[in-house]
Amino acid sequence: MSVIALAGNQNSGKTTLYNKLTGSNQHVGNFPGVTLEKKEGQLKKHKDISIVDLPGIYSLSPYTLEEVVTRDFLLKEKPDLILNIVDATNIERNLYLTLQLMELSIPMVIALNMMDEVTASGNSIDVKKLSSHLGIPVVPISASRGEGISELIDVIIRASKDNLCPKKLDFCIGEVHKAIHSISHLIYDQAVAAGYPPRFAATKLVEGDEPTFKSLAITENQIHIIEHVVKDMEEALKTDREAALADMRYCYIEKICSEAVVKRQETKEQRRSEKIDRVLTHKYFGIPIFLGIMFFIFWMTFHVIGAPLQELLETLIDGLTETASSGLIGMGVSQWVHSLVIDGIFAGVGSVLSFLPIIVVLFFFLSFLEDSGYMARVAFLMDKLLRKIGLSGRSFVPMLIGFGCSVPAIMATRTLASERDRKMTIVLTPFMSCSAKLPIYGMMTAAFFPDKAALVMISLYVTGIIVAVLSGLLLKNTIFKGEPVPFVMELPAYRIPARRSVLIHMWEKGKDFIQRAFTVIFLGTIIIWFLQSFNWSLDMVENSSKSILAYLGSIVAPIFIPLGFNDWRASTALITGLTAKEAVVSTLTVLTGAVSDIELSQALFAIFTPLSAFAFLTFTLLYMPCIAAFAATKRELGSMKYAVLTALYQTATAYAAGTLVFQIGSLFIGG
Ligand code: GDP
Ligand code: MG
Repeated sequence: MSVIALAGNQNSGKTTLYNKLTGSNQHVGNFPGVTLEKKEGQLKKHKDISIVDLPGIYSLSPYTLEEVVTRDFLLKEKPDLILNIVDATNIERNLYLTLQLMELSIPMVIALNMMDEVTASGNSIDVKKLSSHLGIPVVPISASRGEGISELIDVIIRASKDNLCPKKLDFCIGEVHKAIHSISHLIYDQAVAAGYPPRFAATKLVEGDEPTFKSLAITENQIHIIEHVVKDMEEALKTDREAALADMRYCYIEKICSEAVVKRQETKEQRRSEKIDRVLTHKYFGIPIFLGIMFFIFWMTFHVIGAPLQELLETLIDGLTETASSGLIGMGVSQWVHSLVIDGIFAGVGSVLSFLPIIVVLFFFLSFLEDSGYMARVAFLMDKLLRKIGLSGRSFVPMLIGFGCSVPAIMATRTLASERDRKMTIVLTPFMSCSAKLPIYGMMTAAFFPDKAALVMISLYVTGIIVAVLSGLLLKNTIFKGEPVPFVMELPAYRIPARRSVLIHMWEKGKDFIQRAFTVIFLGTIIIWFLQSFNWSLDMVENSSKSILAYLGSIVAPIFIPLGFNDWRASTALITGLTAKEAVVSTLTVLTGAVSDIELSQALFAIFTPLSAFAFLTFTLLYMPCIAAFAATKRELGSMKYAVLTALYQTATAYAAGTLVFQIGSLFIGG
C-alpha cells in the first residue's frame, strides 16, 4: 500500500482534486480553512494507493494547527509521495511551499491546477521548463473540469514506483547557503536519527524553529554554534533569519518564473474579482451590503421557498400519521402502543423533520456565498469589528460555521494561531444561532408571530451576535487580556460555485439533520413519551400533568418565573434540548399532545404569552449548547473544568438576557 499526501495552499483546489482522484464527495469551499482534518481515500481503480487530503498551508513553520497537522504527517508518517498542488494563477506564492516540501526528500509530483483560468486569460506556463528547473515532474491540470487527471495519475504511479526524490535542493546562495550547509553538517547524525531530512532540519534550525530544536535534541553547545552561524548570516545580509530564508526562496522562485511563466495580464477572474471587490468590500457600504444579503437570504428561506415546502412536507407527514394511526387501530394494538407510536414517535420526530426544507434551503444560500468566495471577504470586513472585541477576522470563520452547527465550528478554531484568540472564540461561537435552533424559532413564530416570522428570526440571530460582542468585550477586559494576532487571510478569486459542490453541502446538512431526527430525537421522544405517560407507580396516566415528567419538570419550572413562564412542559423541553436543540420542539409537541399545527399553537398559548415566548426563544438561543457541542468544547479547551465554566457562563448569560427581555418588555406592554 503506498500513501500519497496531497499538500498545497488553501484554495488551490486540493479537495476538488482529491474528490476527482478518489471519487469521493468531500465538501469543497472557496473559503480558507475548510479542510481541517486530514481525509484519506483510495485512488480510483488503484486500490493499493491511498490519498490523504491534508489541510491547506502556506509554509512548514508550525504557526497554526493546520501547519502542525500537515508537518507532523509529512515528517512522521513519511508518505511515499507528495502530490503538491499548485494554483497556477498564483504560482509565485504557491511555489513558496513547494520549495519547502522539496527539502523533505520525499518523491514529489506537482499538479499545476487552474490551468483553465491561466490559458483563458492569454497567459501561459512552460511546464517543461518549470519541471526541469525544479527537478520534479509537473502536470498541468484543471481539477474542477477534470482535465489532465488521467495523465496525472500515470505520472503519480510512475513516480512512486521509481521512488525519485527531488534532485535539486541547492537553490540557496551566498550567506544563506553557507549557514544552511555548515549547520547541516553539524547536526547531520542527529537529524538522521530523528528521522528528519538533514537539509530540512538545517533550514528549520536557521529559522529558529522550536520543535526542530527539541526533536533533534540539539545540545547547549550546538545551540551556541548555530546561534553564532546565524548571527553572522544576519549581519552579512542585514536582515533577520526568517526574512533571509524567505528572500532566498522568493529569489529562486522569481528566477524560475521569469523563465517559465509568461504573464501578459492578470487572469479574467482576478480582474473581475477586483471590480466586484470595489463594491462588496467598500469601506462604508461593505457591511450594510452584507446585512442586506443576509436579510434577503432569510426572507427567501422562510417566506418564499422554505415555508411552502415545509407546509407540503407537513401535510405529507400528517397524512402518513393518520394512515399509521388507523392502521394500528385496525390491527387492534393496545392503547399504549398506539400512543407510543402516534403521540410519541410520529408527533415528535415528525415535528422536527418538517423543518428539513428550511435547513436545506438556508444552506443552499450559505454554501453558495461561501463557494463564491464572498464569505472570505466578509471575514476581511469583519476584522475591524472583531478587533474591537479582542478577536481578529480569522475568528469569523468558526463563528460563521457556528450558524450551521457549533461542533464543527468549535473544531474550526484550530485554524487560529493564538491560543488566546482560540479559547475566546470557542466560548463565543455557541452564541451564534445554530441550525438546530431553527425548528424552535419556527414553531414559536408560527404560534405567536405568524406575520413577522423573518423579523423575529433575524432579531434572534442579531441578538446572538450582540451578546457575543458584549461577551467579547467583557472577556477581553477580564480573562483574556491581550491583543489578537494580526489578520492574514488570502482572498480567493470570486468563482461561480460548482453545482456539485453546493449540492454536496446541502446533502450533507440534510443527511445530518435526518440522522439526528431518527437517532437522538427518536430516542428522546420515546423517553419523554414514557415519562409523561406514566406516574411513579408506572400506571398509565390519563392526564400528563400527573406524570413523572410533570413532577420533575415542575421542580425546575419556577426558576423561569423571571422570564415569564412557569410551566413544567417548557422547563422539560429546555432540559431535553441539551441532547439536541431540536428536541425542544419534539418535547413540546409530545407534551402538549397536539396532533395538528393549530392545536400546537393553541397549546403553546396556554404556556406562553408572546412576550414570554420571546424570552423563551432568547434563552434557547443563548443557553449552553447541546451535549455534542459541549464535548467538542471540552476537547478543544482541553479541560472539563473550563468546559463546565463555559457552559455555566453561557447559561447564566441566557438567563440574564431572557429575564431582561421579559422584564423590560413588560414595562412597555404590561406583560
Ligand atoms: P482547497 O481549499 O485547496 O481544498 O480548494 P477547493 O478544492 O476547496 O477549491 C477552491 C475553489 O477553487 C473552489 O471554488 C473550486 O471550485 C475552485 N477550483 C478548483 N479547481 C479548479 C480549476 O481547475 N479551475 C477553476 N477555475 N477553479 C477550480
Ligand atoms: Mg479543501
